Amino acid sequence: MYLVCPACSKRLQIPDDKLPTDQAVRLTCPACQERFAYDPRVHRSVGVTHAQLGDGTQALKWLARAEQTGLPCYPWYERDPLLQPMRKDNEFQRFMAELKKSWESAKARHAE
Ligand SMILES: [Zn+2]
Repeated sequence: MYLVCPACSKRLQIPDDKLPTDQAVRLTCPACQERFAYDPRVHRSVGVTHAQLGDGTQALKWLARAEQTGLPCYPWYERDPLLQPMRKDNEFQRFMAELKKSWESAKARHAE
């Protein structure tokens, strides 16, 4: 599968058999040496599911958790069609604005 480094946005290809399916792992990005967590236990999926069910509060809680555990991937959140039901939600827009800021500052940090 692919993971995106939260610091430098590099796409990392990780063989599926190298990732546990039931616990969080910490990875070191080969490009920028940033250590980040990947939690395969579906934080993001749970968030997306709540979004689909129309429960914006729960969706945001889970998406924020996914972000903290290593998925601060702004372009992905921005494009994900499964998050479509959330887009008019004020809280979601705030969340996205914050995510964009941390995404851009991470990119800027690593562009030097
Ligand atoms: Zn990196």
